[in-house]
Amino acid sequence: MTKKEMIYEGKGKKMWSVAENSDLLIAEFKDDLTAFDATKKGNESGKGALNNKISTELFGLLEQNGIETALVETISDTEQVVKKCSIVPLEVIVRNIATGSLTKRLGITEGKELPFALVEFCYKDDALHDPIINDEHAIILGAGEQKELDYIKEQARKINAILKPFFASKGLKLVDFKIEFGRDKDGKIILADEISPDSCRFWDAKTGAKMDKDIFRQDIGGGSVKVAYEEVLKRILN
Ligand code: 5GP
Repeated sequence: MTKKEMIYEGKGKKMWSVAENSDLLIAEFKDDLTAFDATKKGNESGKGALNNKISTELFGLLEQNGIETALVETISDTEQVVKKCSIVPLEVIVRNIATGSLTKRLGITEGKELPFALVEFCYKDDALHDPIINDEHAIILGAGEQKELDYIKEQARKINAILKPFFASKGLKLVDFKIEFGRDKDGKIILADEISPDSCRFWDAKTGAKMDKDIFRQDIGGGSVKVAYEEVLKRILN
């Protein structure tokens, strides 16, 4: 596969068209770190490769368990071939434990186990700061029809039901995560983007230590994420 032209650069990845096949793209994982609407910026060599490896493993696990994803093949340390799809403009957030914006917004006690997995939608729009929305907003904004939103929520819950026990078996609590979906060339909604410590919260089951991008967000231990991301990958592989 040969990269043709860069068609999009996001905060975590560059997307390239592919010379040999117009239905595919190459996603290149970057070492950049951003937080708080990209007002906080950083860069750590090797972070992109770790996210590529972690996301490859998790998408593989999900595929084995019947979740259709955009991942075709991981072709280098930092690159994946993915199905070209039109991204649904929703950040789909699944929460098992209250923290982050949920505790700020609703005053729920930090660290409280939620009685069921909470699925939220945020509208992907940097200028609006990705506001939380409900299904009716999503329909009015043209993000999808009700039955598509229902399917996305059902897939999000299934993904959580696969990942939560998987991480528990690795001594990690899957606190919450953000996923994105896309429509493939036939209009089918599939899991896209990535699942990595940039987009999830993991707490060590024994110590409660944060092992995700909160280390960078909150400058924990100097703010370097690499050791924690390496540990997450090591546990996934063991
Ligand atoms: P919160 O809403 O508490 O800030 O985040 C909930 C979960 O979604 C966390 O795991 C967080 O990493 C993820 N998340 C929320 N917004 C974004 C975003 O814009 N980019 C990424 N990569 N993850 C996000």
